[in-house]
Amino acid sequence: MTICAIIVAAGRGTRAGGEIPKQWQRLGARSIAAHAMQPFVDHPEIHTIVLVLHPDDIDSDLWRDTPAALRVTGGDTRKASVMAGLTAVPDGTTQVLIHDAARPLVTAAIIDRVISALKTHQGAAPAVAVTDTLWHGAAGQVTGVQDRSGLYRAQTPQGFHLAPLLAAHHGQTDDATDDVGVARAAGLDVAIVQGDENNIKITTPGDFARATKLMRQDMDIRCGNGYDVHRFGPGDHVWLCGVKVPHGRALQGHSDADVGMHAVTDAIYGALGKGDIGQHFPPSDPQWKGAESHIFLRHAVGLARDQGYQISNVDCTLVCEYPKIGPHQPAMRAALAAIMGLDADRISVKATTSERLGFTGREEGIASIATVTLVKP
Ligand code: MG
Repeated sequence: MTICAIIVAAGRGTRAGGEIPKQWQRLGARSIAAHAMQPFVDHPEIHTIVLVLHPDDIDSDLWRDTPAALRVTGGDTRKASVMAGLTAVPDGTTQVLIHDAARPLVTAAIIDRVISALKTHQGAAPAVAVTDTLWHGAAGQVTGVQDRSGLYRAQTPQGFHLAPLLAAHHGQTDDATDDVGVARAAGLDVAIVQGDENNIKITTPGDFARATKLMRQDMDIRCGNGYDVHRFGPGDHVWLCGVKVPHGRALQGHSDADVGMHAVTDAIYGALGKGDIGQHFPPSDPQWKGAESHIFLRHAVGLARDQGYQISNVDCTLVCEYPKIGPHQPAMRAALAAIMGLDADRISVKATTSERLGFTGREEGIASIATVTLVKP
């Protein structure tokens, strides 16, 4: 099986409240759509992710926090958007899982069950059996009871073999409410697999509160530290936290020797358990000679994002007698914020002297220590 996940994020729904479509509203540190994509990104049997965006959103920043994916423009209807996604899947794709970007709490177990059922069925989708008693009502009065046996609440991802689903979509003119409807209209068999009560679709403002509460139950929080030192040599400026600071000497190093940015970068690698700068960008490799350190930091931030982590905050301390850091702190925070895609109020740059003690006190070099917190909601 070569499976592609299509995340449909082209809806305009604002019933959930807010100024922007619900899939782009934030749940914790990430957009709902980013949460909805991550379990597919992390799933070993999913080869490709296609993210279907509304034409109005393509040039916006709304989707910038979503994991890497093939991004395509959808249409005005759900059917048009799904078709855009189906058309974009890479050659060789044999099965597709179509998921609603407004379901941020989908799990690997649900995806597993859908994939497993596709081995023996043309289609498969998760659902939860209705357990509440169902009433008919009118004018505020109970008027009857509906037999609930055989009733299910449908969820996504809905999985299909690609060729018959494409044929079903081509043959269908109505805008069915979901792909199971399209598939069944074309005579495909669709298995029901066990869904999850928590795999809710964000529709109303109350759903945000519920989803937030559910997410906190298994939030993954990580902390990392980084430490770096560079020695002084001849020169007329130093790079510190992305800012060029005039100084009577320069810091020496294979790269631009931005000791603060190196400490922050190593803290991120540390939190991820992914080594350090020297491992990812070996000093023995001439291509990194004189490299600007934002390359390293962007790499670490990208690794964190690819694993579903958001950087919650950064705290960096520079240890030196000179240059004086205070006047440059706002620019340093802004520079790190821009590189990391964070608000500057999540970044701290502090400085201290070492009371003239040790190598920093003797002005032989600058040291930096940094701490970061990563959160996977
Ligand atoms: Mg260094």
